[in-house]
Amino acid sequence: MKKHNFSAGPSILPREVIEQASRDLLDFNGLGLSVLEISHRSKDFVAVMDKACALALEHLGLTDKGYTALFLQGGANTQFLMAPYNLLERSAAYLNTGTWASKAIKEAQLFGQVHEVASSKDRNFCYIPKNYTIPEAVDYFHCTSNNTIFGTQIHSFPDTTQPLVCDMSSDIFSRVLDFSKFDLIYAGAQKNMGPAGTTLVVIKNDILGKVSRSIPSMLDYRTHIDKESMFNTPPVFAVHVSMLTLEWLKAQGGVMAIEKQNKMKSERLYQEIERNSLFSGFADIADRSMMNVTFNLTDDQHKEKFNTLCQEAGISGLNGHRSVGGYRASIYNALPLNSVDTLIEVMSEFERKA
Ligand SMILES: *Cc1c(COP(=O)(O)O)cnc(C)c1O
Repeated sequence: MKKHNFSAGPSILPREVIEQASRDLLDFNGLGLSVLEISHRSKDFVAVMDKACALALEHLGLTDKGYTALFLQGGANTQFLMAPYNLLERSAAYLNTGTWASKAIKEAQLFGQVHEVASSKDRNFCYIPKNYTIPEAVDYFHCTSNNTIFGTQIHSFPDTTQPLVCDMSSDIFSRVLDFSKFDLIYAGAQKNMGPAGTTLVVIKNDILGKVSRSIPSMLDYRTHIDKESMFNTPPVFAVHVSMLTLEWLKAQGGVMAIEKQNKMKSERLYQEIERNSLFSGFADIADRSMMNVTFNLTDDQHKEKFNTLCQEAGISGLNGHRSVGGYRASIYNALPLNSVDTLIEVMSEFERKA
């Protein structure tokens, strides 16, 4: 039986994408070769890379606006250091909204002064700080759009005059934003875009070349822009499957259409969490995430029972992160409404039987 996959990452991909990827593993474009066994410089693979980059920009509304899309390696974790390596001359401002933001801050501190403008650590990151001030003189402001572990999401970004850098690993392509407000966006593929192994970087070309340090070639965004993500051998399969997922998204009607779905899925689930006396939501209502829904049992003695009901219904990947406990339903773009409805049914059945 196909499971209802609520995994936080790597996470669910559209069925059609997995099927197409499986066919391409055996015979790609009728070449009589697998997509895994052709040169990354062959015209068939170069077409995949070009299309992936073009679709990424198109979905973000950034085509022909002075941005470049790159597919790199090393995960979002490498972007934690690559961003300051390329952009931090003296100081940068960071918003601390959770584990990933804290890691980004730790890496940036190796390159210059970091102003933590605000933190929600005082309440275990269950909210997004507001009304903070970004110092004028900083080289950039960094934030995390969606906090995968805690289930919070920034719904309103500050208007800054400083360059805006954002880790969008777990909500890229999930909602419409004015992406032209951002100067650097990065996202590990494995949450909402594709399989693990590649990281999307979208960068405004004119923010580069302003730091005085020398940057190793592999960590210099300009290298990858010059070589069109082919400076070294790219992770061909991860890029290919990401491209197929971006095509799938286009066929769904793009980001605007998927946002409607995501709203519906998250609203239904939050409504059940609020209605059901046996659950309580973790994140503050104003800051809840449309992608990762975190909740706890009001009484932990029922845990076994709920887990069993979930298992019987084919629900997988619902365990909360160890730093929050409880449950986390990751309801990324590819998760069908039907899976959310199944979870809601199990939650209300649980309440009836408890
Ligand atoms: C998962 C995640 C990361 C880490 O990504 P890697 O690709 O494993 O380095 C960073 N930031 C956010 C918001 C994430 O969800």
